[in-house]
Amino acid sequence: MKNISFVFLILVSVISCKPTPTGNEDSANDEQLKIRAQELAHNFIITDGHIDLPYRLKHQKFNIDTDKASILSTTEGDFDFERAKIGGLDAPFMSIYIPSDYQTTGGAKLLADSLIDMVESIERAFPEKFAVAATPEQVSQMVAAGKIALPMGIENGAAIEDNLSYLAHFRNRGVSYITLTHAKDNLICDSSYDTTYMHNGVSKFGESVIKEMNRLGIMVDVSHISDSAFYDVMRLTTQPVIASHSSCRHFTPGFERNMSDEMIKVLAKNGGVIQINFGSTFIDENSIAVKEEIEKYAEENNLTEEDSLYKSYTASHPIYSNVDKVADHIDHVVSLVGIDHVGLGSDYDGVGDSLPLLLKDVSHYPNLIYVLLKRGYSESDIEKICYKNVFRVWGEVVSHAEQPQAL
Ligand SMILES: [Zn+2]
Repeated sequence: MKNISFVFLILVSVISCKPTPTGNEDSANDEQLKIRAQELAHNFIITDGHIDLPYRLKHQKFNIDTDKASILSTTEGDFDFERAKIGGLDAPFMSIYIPSDYQTTGGAKLLADSLIDMVESIERAFPEKFAVAATPEQVSQMVAAGKIALPMGIENGAAIEDNLSYLAHFRNRGVSYITLTHAKDNLICDSSYDTTYMHNGVSKFGESVIKEMNRLGIMVDVSHISDSAFYDVMRLTTQPVIASHSSCRHFTPGFERNMSDEMIKVLAKNGGVIQINFGSTFIDENSIAVKEEIEKYAEENNLTEEDSLYKSYTASHPIYSNVDKVADHIDHVVSLVGIDHVGLGSDYDGVGDSLPLLLKDVSHYPNLIYVLLKRGYSESDIEKICYKNVFRVWGEVVSHAEQPQAL
């Protein structure tokens, strides 16, 4: 007892002797961390698993001949070349997004091809600034040449309609991943947003799709799919998978679009990566509650987003979370399965005006890196989050392709 008291006394005296940092020293340290975060954002490759630029451009009726300057700099949306360079973003996966309506109207493959054409047209318009990439090696080469690489992922396997051979077609066009479904159950599997559970997981056709994706070297993306579909995928795939833009359900109980702890553990066991979605309603329960309040108010008062009453209500009910919350999701994955299974999948240009404070667009990645440094993440850990984890999965899937494609 005496000894313990003695040790305690020494400890107290050591602690009390240690000069406490002044406010000035604290802010000087903080400034250094911010500078280091900027440096790391530019020294490391940054990949982002999901950016909805192509569909945003389609929505805006973008024309490469007349509107191409907006790719370099614009006040619209969350992405342009200038802001990407400020943020250190090197490899934004361009989402080739197929809305689920196309599953009934037809034309899904046509839409996918036209969005890929659009990404290629960006490369053609600015060959010194952008280049389409289909492997991690290609990204590294392009980044070394000072370019922003544009890998592609199709969001919604409906793009292949009912034709397995379209998978090879899309791989030949440079597609690196396919999100099996989107807002509705499709021919491949069930969606987390749907309520019909048409297949109770992955369909027979979906089984062939996964097998063929493994064979061709296309990553399977489990974002958007239902829990039962996820567990079917994990049983069927011979390759590690990604969740291109999903967050942790731990923080948003009942939101099936995010991944449960159990799913994250299974994903990690398979060698995969969850790329955290930044959208406030993906990361923060409070934001979900405010969103529901806004929807209720709009419904009760019969308002559309264009009505001034709606605008003033949303202005006084901000749904924004903050950059720390995104770091909380990263912390959570790391606490569950370690540092090797987490990455970034912002959903920029895909989640509207719901992005968290200090993560508003592609110029803001350094703000997240700063929070991670402040929380004690090592620089090599941050490097894994920025790109190495995704490169590991992507490289593995590509290297196991039965017939490596000439891309
Ligand atoms: Zn999505």
